[in-house]
Formats: sequence, C-alpha cells, structure tokens
Amino acid sequence: MFPCIEINLSKLKHNATTILALCEKQGISSCFLVTKMLAGDLKTASMLATCGFSHLADSRIENLIKFKNISLPKVLLRLPMPSEVNKVVKYCDISLNSELLTIIKLNDAALRQNKVHQIIYMFDLGDLREGHFYQNEYLETIRIINQLVGIKLVGIGTNLTCYGGVIPTPSILNELLAIKRNIENSLNISLPIISGGNSSSITLLENHQLPKGINNLRLGESLVLGRETAFGKPIANTFSDSFIVKAEIIEVKTKPSYPLGVLGMNSFGEKPDIIDKGLMKRAILALGKQDVLPDNLKPLDPLISIIGASSDHLIVDLGLSKYEVGDIISFTINYPGLLQLMTSKYVKKEYVM
Ligand SMILES: *Cc1c(COP(=O)(O)O)cnc(C)c1O
Repeated sequence: MFPCIEINLSKLKHNATTILALCEKQGISSCFLVTKMLAGDLKTASMLATCGFSHLADSRIENLIKFKNISLPKVLLRLPMPSEVNKVVKYCDISLNSELLTIIKLNDAALRQNKVHQIIYMFDLGDLREGHFYQNEYLETIRIINQLVGIKLVGIGTNLTCYGGVIPTPSILNELLAIKRNIENSLNISLPIISGGNSSSITLLENHQLPKGINNLRLGESLVLGRETAFGKPIANTFSDSFIVKAEIIEVKTKPSYPLGVLGMNSFGEKPDIIDKGLMKRAILALGKQDVLPDNLKPLDPLISIIGASSDHLIVDLGLSKYEVGDIISFTINYPGLLQLMTSKYVKKEYVM
C-alpha cells in the first residue's frame, strides 16, 4: 500500500550499536534512546530498546504510554505541562524540568500516588530553549527541590543546538560540570546523571573532546539518520537511509515546464518561482504536503528531480528516466521529513528486517 515509509530495522540496529559503542568508549555510562520522531511506532521502538540504551525518552506522554510494556525506564524529554503531572508521575520514571512550580505539582502528584518521581534539572547554557539560565542563581531552587519528599533529583542536563544552534564545545560543557560541583559541594548531595546534550554532542565524542564527567547523552537523530547535528556530518559506519519513502505514480505526461496564462498564487498562497525549461516529462505521485513537505525529500534515482507539491500531489521532473503510471518512486528523507511522515496517518509503515 502506498504511500509508505519503509523502516529498515537491521540498519537502525546497526546504527544504534555503532553509536552506543562510541559512547561507551568515551565515558558515557547511560544513553537515552530518544523516540520522538517515531510518533509512537511500537515495533521500531521495541527493537531499538534491545540495543543497549539505559532509558527510553520521548517528548510526549502519549508515546510513553504506548511504550509502557517496553522494559526500559521512561523519560519525559519535554518539560511537563502542569496539567499533566499525574500522568507524568504515573507513566514516567524521570522527567526533565526547569520550573519549580511544576516540580512542586509533580511532588504533590507523587505523594498522592505513593511514588518518588525522579527529575533531571535542566540548565540553559546559551542555546535559549529550555532550562535555568546558567548565569542566574540556582542553589536556592535546588535546595528547595532537594527537600521535596516525592521528588528525587538524579542529575542535571543541558540541551544545545535546538533553538539557537549553539554548538557544544568543551568550554560550554565545562560550565555544566562547574554547576555540578557547586551544587554537590554547597548542598552536600550527589548528582549521578550529568546529561551533556543530544546528537549535536557526537562530534565531541568522535574527537575525544567530551569533558570527563559528562556521563549521559540523549540521542535521536544520530541513531535514525546516521548523522551528528552540530555540523550535519555523517557518522562513520552508520546508515543514513534506514527510512525510505515510496510513492506511486498516478500521471505521466509531457507538458510545458512554464505555466500558461496569467500567474497568481498557488494552492498554498505562494507565488511559485518556476523556470521555463521547455517541454518536460513530468510525473504526479500520490503523496502531498499533508504527508511531507517536498523540500524534505530526495529521490533515490538521480535522473529525477522534485519540482513542486500541493496537499496531495507531488510533481517530479522525470528527466530521461523511464517510469510509467503505477510505478513506484523512492526517496530518502531528512529529520523534519521523518517527523512528518511518521506522524501522517495516510502513510503506511512497512518493516524490513
Ligand atoms: C529531541 C531531544 C533530544 C534528542 O535530540 P537529537 O538531536 O534528535 O539527538 C534530546 N533532548 C531533548 C530535551 C530533546 O527534546
């Protein structure tokens, strides 16, 4: 059935074991398997969970609930909504946090459920997404958290290269280690998990530059697409094509490449920038912006190029290739494309072992 996304489980497994081996060599003692781009796909998450990760981490509680029979402890990556604290305590072992108000609500929920909920307190080292801004005073907040009976502070973490595009460097991550020492010495507590970021920290690992003391990473994109995310470089000995999209041709015709008549807006309210290349052999595929934005796709066949899309139609230039109606065209995808395709209910999932 088409369109479909073909998920190659053995390539994914190979990526996971390769990257976990790299982590282990550089002092990463626990690595979180980040599954948010799987949009709750149980089969893929279950396989990846057998590769050696310490925890399974997702940004949405709905996905963690779907994964509740996977035996790894669960981590909520996105800061909890105050309105979901009961579910967070019920279904997650650890959540990442930066707001004392939410942490107090989590504490109340944990006490009601007779549980102790673990948290990692996030510090913003300059990327300006979530976390306690590191230049501001934090000891008083940590002291209050430490007194909550239903909460156990198990570590601190940071997130880089998400909003601001800040690249992890030894000096940035040393700030996190300085915070750890300051908390441990001032409050006489120990912080077992020091979480030094996501797939953008892989380059530091490869170059043996990850500061000693960073003992956790939370990895998603590097596993699924075989690339680090600080510079977008492929990771040695990993696959970038574990996910392939396949769509079916519903029209093949030779037509002018430049529209005829007076030009206004297209179906998405944009004025298209179209180059006149004369007559062109074009195909329409049954795949559209409702499934994936075309900029996120790359045809596997080098003779083909994408020229545009509307909600449900993808138009390609067939060049000198020989495709007919009913043939299937395959594409590799980038991370935003993967998110969109896994989320679209119109795209079937097929598994290759
Ligand atoms: C998504 C996310 C990750 C994983 O990021 P990748 O770049 O996919 O490895 C790690 N931590 C947090 C908080 C996230 O939201």
